[in-house]
Amino acid sequence: MQENSSNFEIILPDGTVYNPNKKQKRDSHTIQGYTSDGKPKIMKFSAKTSCDRCGECCRRDTPVILKEDINLLIEGVISEKELYTIREGEKIRSSIDGDTYYSSMELIKVRPIFGSFTCIFYDLKEGCTIYEKRPSVCRQYECWSQNFSITGLDKKRLTRADLFKGVELIEEVLKKHEEKCSVVRFADLIDELRKGKEENTEKIAEMILYDLSIRDWIKEKLTVSDDVLPLLFGRTLFEIAPFYGLIIEKDGENFIIKITKEEEE
Ligand code: SF4
Ligand code: SF4
Repeated sequence: MQENSSNFEIILPDGTVYNPNKKQKRDSHTIQGYTSDGKPKIMKFSAKTSCDRCGECCRRDTPVILKEDINLLIEGVISEKELYTIREGEKIRSSIDGDTYYSSMELIKVRPIFGSFTCIFYDLKEGCTIYEKRPSVCRQYECWSQNFSITGLDKKRLTRADLFKGVELIEEVLKKHEEKCSVVRFADLIDELRKGKEENTEKIAEMILYDLSIRDWIKEKLTVSDDVLPLLFGRTLFEIAPFYGLIIEKDGENFIIKITKEEEE
């Protein structure tokens, strides 16, 4: 059935009826739909003034970790296996408008449940399983406020440099990885390839292989599990390549790299 918003009516808490076709002041939660017999749904609409732990935001995105959250890591509320790094230049999806954009800085975030945007700490029955000790961004977020924003993220965010300060081997490896496998450089090479610079294929393949091999090397050297690699090195270039319009196919021992006309949105 094709939806027709002119048929919707929502009863607000004060008894007034909200009609989506008439311009009226309303909360951001618009409830729409039809009953099983095809009649427009009439639903109670409750404007929130505090968090009722509905989990809607937890199913939409995961929080960025700030410096002030460091105690959650020290106390073991959040482990390194539950975090991953977004590197500078990575394409990410905005939880606000769903658009994709390039991250202008490195960010450490809580991992989502595999194959979804839902926070790993969200449980369908219990809601947030670390609610009393949830990260600062989750505490600050007020879904009922139109003015929510985090300012000064550049200074407030936790980085890998903060986490691994003084651990020489990791500091060195991360520096080398960034030099050889920067996402910004990766995206530039792909862009140039798209414009006809075919010699970039080899450079791109080298980057992808280096990015994979340095992970294997550190795993062996420090006997760390696969789970901590997304925090140490972010997502692999192999994983993020499709977002930049690069298709990589395996042919025996070789990789075949193909480029699409446009980047994925
Ligand atoms: S802040 Fe998130 S969990 Fe709390 S009420 Fe709003 S959407 Fe639900
Ligand atoms: S940490 Fe808790 S409150 Fe924050 S997004 Fe995850 S489940 Fe939601």
